[in-house]
Amino acid sequence: MRLLKPQTVQELAERASRDGSPVLSVYLNLDPTNPVNRRGGYKVALDGMLKELEAQIKDDGRLKQFQEDADWVRQKVEYLIPRGRSLVVFCDVSESFHFEEDLPVRLANQVWYGSTPYVRLLREAMDEYERYGLVLVDREKVRFFVVTMGQIEEVSDVFQDPPFKHRSTSGSDQMRSQMVNQRRAAQWSEWFLKDAAAILHDIMNRYSVDRIILAGPEEVTAEMARLLPRAVASRLVERVRMAVTAKPADVLRTALPVIDRIAREQERELVNDLVTIARKSSPTVEKAILGAEAVMDAVNQGRVHRLIYAGGLAIRGHHCAGCGVLMDHCPPDCGCPYCSTPMDETEDLLWYASEKVLNAGGKSEEIRDSEARAGLEAQGGIGAFLR
Ligand SMILES: [Zn+2]
Repeated sequence: MRLLKPQTVQELAERASRDGSPVLSVYLNLDPTNPVNRRGGYKVALDGMLKELEAQIKDDGRLKQFQEDADWVRQKVEYLIPRGRSLVVFCDVSESFHFEEDLPVRLANQVWYGSTPYVRLLREAMDEYERYGLVLVDREKVRFFVVTMGQIEEVSDVFQDPPFKHRSTSGSDQMRSQMVNQRRAAQWSEWFLKDAAAILHDIMNRYSVDRIILAGPEEVTAEMARLLPRAVASRLVERVRMAVTAKPADVLRTALPVIDRIAREQERELVNDLVTIARKSSPTVEKAILGAEAVMDAVNQGRVHRLIYAGGLAIRGHHCAGCGVLMDHCPPDCGCPYCSTPMDETEDLLWYASEKVLNAGGKSEEIRDSEARAGLEAQGGIGAFLR
């Protein structure tokens, strides 16, 4: 499986602009939890955005180029079987340039037409997910994997060059002569694991790995853990038992619960921080808030940096089709307090709030861990860190 590398995104960012041939960049929210999307609503959303952009293009040549690119994306999305929660497409048909990626994160719908691919949101989405380096090792073989966004890629081949070979034929005189077999084996094993650790260090940098998992026979991973350079050791989160011949899908199956456990720990810390900071916040310098009413106020004012909500939470409320204001309760006459438009009732105020936060460049995070969720539910199920 192909894994999106930071390097790929960097290359996209650095793609030289082609004279008179701009790139169409599309971010499309496919989130299946939005009922509209389940009925293919994202196609309508895409069409609307493209038409709006098209209307702004005055130059005939440029317009023709745009239509070509827009049609390509429409076609792509028409036959799409949504796998992720968002789709990212960059294309310039006249230059045979196409890039597409499914992402498991919710991104706001956006389109751009410019000289280079608009990679900022893609980069941010990647940063959102921690990247795990997994080393599968025994005394004779080592394999490397990178796991992120629920996907795995084996990267062993890239790194199997010199160290293993020159060691395997080496052996100084003293080694060859008197050393007892056992000691020799121990020495050999240490060299081997040290080489593996050095390669791991390279992989960590090359793939921007945040955390490390060691897998293999218990005694081997224990020894390797002791031999890790400090920079690597500080990122080791877990050792697991696994056969060195395991298939990537099985490696992923073993890694995911570890990753999930760490994500849940982070959720508990996040909710703790949110509640603690919200309680300490003075009314004049609020840093964090709790509860639907306060959160909707802050969302309306564009002050939410991170929206945090308990998984499964539904908030009924009202939204204004005129100016986009959200309220968890209806004002007395049910008219918008800002523009007087009659407000619409919605079962899914949270969805509107998330969209607004994402569109304003903020983040929207769902809490899944049961303990963290209970902690947040005790505070109204929703909160936010403010800008
Ligand atoms: Zn309004």
